[in-house]
Amino acid sequence: MAISREKNSIRLKITLWFSLILLFISFFTLASVFYISRTVMQKTVKDALIRMVENNYDEVEYYEEISQGELDRDDDQYLQYQNGYIEIDDDFITKMNGISAGVYYSDGKLFVGSDPNPDLLEKVPFSDGQVQTSREDGINWYIYDRSLAGQKLDGLWLRGAVSEQQGQAQMSSTMKMSMILLPVLVIFAIVGGYIFAGRLLRPINEINETAMEIGQGRDLSKRIDLGPGNDELHQLAGNFNDMMDRLEKSFDAEKQFSSDVSHELRTPISVIRAECEYILEQDRDKEEYIEALETIERQEHHMSRMVEDLLMFSRLERGTDIYPMEDMDLSGLVESVCVDMALLQVKGIRLDWSCQEQIHIKGSRSLIIRMLTNLISNAYRYGRDHGWIHVRLYRNKDRGDQTVLQVEDNGIGIAPEEKEKIFHRFYQVDSSRTGSGTGLGLSMVQEICRYHGADISLSSQPGEGSSFYIIFFQ
Ligand code: ADP
Repeated sequence: MAISREKNSIRLKITLWFSLILLFISFFTLASVFYISRTVMQKTVKDALIRMVENNYDEVEYYEEISQGELDRDDDQYLQYQNGYIEIDDDFITKMNGISAGVYYSDGKLFVGSDPNPDLLEKVPFSDGQVQTSREDGINWYIYDRSLAGQKLDGLWLRGAVSEQQGQAQMSSTMKMSMILLPVLVIFAIVGGYIFAGRLLRPINEINETAMEIGQGRDLSKRIDLGPGNDELHQLAGNFNDMMDRLEKSFDAEKQFSSDVSHELRTPISVIRAECEYILEQDRDKEEYIEALETIERQEHHMSRMVEDLLMFSRLERGTDIYPMEDMDLSGLVESVCVDMALLQVKGIRLDWSCQEQIHIKGSRSLIIRMLTNLISNAYRYGRDHGWIHVRLYRNKDRGDQTVLQVEDNGIGIAPEEKEKIFHRFYQVDSSRTGSGTGLGLSMVQEICRYHGADISLSSQPGEGSSFYIIFFQ
């Protein structure tokens, strides 16, 4: 099945989300730029208008009389008004930066200077020292007036006017720049983001593909290789690979276990079949029949024990429903098992025990009995003639409140290289010496320890004896 990457892919979702945010930010930025530059522009234009009109105010003066010499001077302008003259200084500015200024009659007609829009300005009444706004043909005008009454020029006004278009010309270039630059940047960011997201997410596709290959091909040996790196995705790939390692190991162990079980069961079945064939071949005498039946019974015992053990393993794996954990007197339990097991008196081996009183733990009685029985049986089985077995139960005060159960013997011992293997299912060091052993005893002990959260350890010297320690952390 082809992997559908694009449909609903995280890459598309991230890009879409990111683009929406970016578009929103761009729109917001453009709107803000527009608003701020408009406000700044309006203020700048108004300030320039006021400044120009106020400057001009000082350049206008009235004289009732004036000498011919003054009139002949060509730097200042003299205009007749009523019974005198108005002097317009040569510093009087009539047009600058789009601002027009002039002297007006109070009916709105221009006396001297420049009038950018007579239709409009005639309509706007004069107002001393106030910036007025008026709109004409969709354009805003700012108008600023000063009465010249203070200069003995009643009925004359100084007026300056400027249209917003003037400021807008500057502003629109900023806006145009933003309008072009921002979308280009947004497109650039979106494309870049899409490519970047693709790169970032490539490891996820790699993980996805590997997981699918494993799922479809059932090839548990496949691993994800993202190359060097230590980001979250590399960690995820690392965890995935670790998980696959464990899965592969447990699958292999499961396979090994099934093949071991069939192999172990095949031996007693073959013996039974061979025995039956032999005895049925011809008429046999009574002793031979009895011998054959005894062999069959022994093999049946062996198989039953194995099946029982295997059943117990699977029950242990299923959890606490079958073997509930209860508060129990471990001291009493160990002692009673020892009393029973001491009666066996195999190979003249003496079993003795020392149990600290009143040790209570939370555990399953039947499993603890099974565990101790297995260890003592092994100590008998691999013990030397007339040897001894010591069972000890005590609290280890040096190490917090640990409870230690020790089974020690002076039997054949265990070689260092076998110490780990003897806990594997069906493993037997020397099957000719185990008699009725199945190779499941110690792995069962280990499983029971795991069930109780306990540890098992072993110290042994070949030819001198072995000591098994079970440590309960409670
Ligand atoms: P078995 O049924 O063979 O006893 P176990 O799992 O109980 O299976 O033990 C695995 C192997 O560990 C045995 O075959 C034996 O070689 C070795 N072993 C176990 N207990 C002892 C012991 N107390 N002394 C020496 N060897 C032991």
